[in-house]
Amino acid sequence: MSQSSDRGQAALRAVKGMNDMLPGDAPLWERFEDAAASAARAYGYRRIRTPILEHTALFVRGIGEVTDIVEKEMYAFEDKADKDGNREHLALRPESTASVVRAAIEHNLLYDGPQRLWYLGPMFRRERPQRGRTRQFHQFGIEALGYAGPDVDAEVILLAKRLFDDLGVDDLRLEINSIGQPDERARHRVALIEYLEANEQLLDDDAKRRLHSNPLRILDTKNPHMQALVEAAPRIADFLGDDSRAHLEGVKARLTDAGVAFVVNPRLVRGLDYYNLTVFEWITESLGAQGTVCGGGRYDPLIAVLGGKPAPACGFAIGMERILEMLRAKQEPVEPSCDVYLVHQGEAASLLAMRVAEGLRTVGLDVILHCAGPAGIGSFKSQMKRADASGAAFAVLLGDDEVAANEATVKPLVRDGAAHGSGAQRRVALDALTVMLIDSLVEDDDAEEPDAFDAPDEEESLVVATESSRKLPH
Ligand code: ATP
Ligand code: MG
Repeated sequence: MSQSSDRGQAALRAVKGMNDMLPGDAPLWERFEDAAASAARAYGYRRIRTPILEHTALFVRGIGEVTDIVEKEMYAFEDKADKDGNREHLALRPESTASVVRAAIEHNLLYDGPQRLWYLGPMFRRERPQRGRTRQFHQFGIEALGYAGPDVDAEVILLAKRLFDDLGVDDLRLEINSIGQPDERARHRVALIEYLEANEQLLDDDAKRRLHSNPLRILDTKNPHMQALVEAAPRIADFLGDDSRAHLEGVKARLTDAGVAFVVNPRLVRGLDYYNLTVFEWITESLGAQGTVCGGGRYDPLIAVLGGKPAPACGFAIGMERILEMLRAKQEPVEPSCDVYLVHQGEAASLLAMRVAEGLRTVGLDVILHCAGPAGIGSFKSQMKRADASGAAFAVLLGDDEVAANEATVKPLVRDGAAHGSGAQRRVALDALTVMLIDSLVEDDDAEEPDAFDAPDEEESLVVATESSRKLPH
């Protein structure tokens, strides 16, 4: 039973396997999101956002019935009945390729020619939560729709590489393979089933179940007891025809030319049904068992399977949390920071403070305005403690004196181990405050262009009192 206390109701907890993204981690997420968006932009990919809920049938058709995702991992449910008593079968998306292809077909995007698309967002799979595996996780993904050649396969791999390089994630290995075309896989499948049947006593339950429905997936097993068996199984490479072989060689040549190291892993397959030809994964040893940070490949049959005019396609999905874990292990957490923390005392100053804060924001500064808590606005001293902790470059103080004189007191705060501006607090006329703050911030930060703010350059209007009328704490 949950306990309630005199402070209120017992606290509820998040759903198992679904994690909060806390503000302390926000800089890391934003770094990934910015880098992903700019990598996508660098190759001419445009963003698409599809709904998180889709008809269950989309994933059953688009991922394949005999896959872990569809068999075991989907959050699928029947919606409430509509006015005619009909219930829709809906599912939280476990991945986005099917959704993106659905949207491309539904909106006839390929009518305008091939499409380079990217997405980023949450996915949902009811797996056993463990390190590197949660029930809500995020993927950044690329889908190149309508492109047939090995050039675009290499391009999406280079895009991923550029992103990893930009983020400074380097202990990754690229594995590639070709799983050929359906007819080649059919011939391989016969040989594979024959081999696996001959070794049936070595198969685990999953593998026995898949022996006739999806034997290729058995090669993807994580069961250590089956590795030797899988190792010696017939290889798809021996069943590839000339065209498939040439396609793989085309990808390899381009990667080699671009200086991207890779290994061909003849046992690499994808967990999803409608992949063909190129498959690839980026893998790290630094994350333990869940080491695949990116999986991708070609899925030429999918668009037709989902009811579109047949068109080739390829893409990848990167597991964002796994990359963030690699980044977290590498770098110091970034402290949040803003430009100004506004401290004030008294009703008139409080009104003025909000007006000053708005004015500063309008010219592009980030401003935290001190607001009242349950115990009121607090003393100057306690407000200054908040200002110090905020990471702001400056505290701007407004009290009765300042209101009467139409001035503000500006106190540089210590940030990144150094005080901003000259270090000493000073009084500034309100109409010169913006210029003074911007000048000090620009001085401090060489990377910041003065032109980024539309500030007037009339230094003369700066009225700086030589001595402050108020003694501040610290
Ligand atoms: P795995 O073999 O790890 O289950 P998968 O083949 O199911 O991976 P994909 O469907 O190819 O994974 O998804 C692409 C990427 O998304 C994975 O390489 C991984 O980085 C990430 N990912 C997949 N499932 C999860 C999860 N449950 N939690 C966190 N990240 C995940
Ligand atoms: Mg999985």
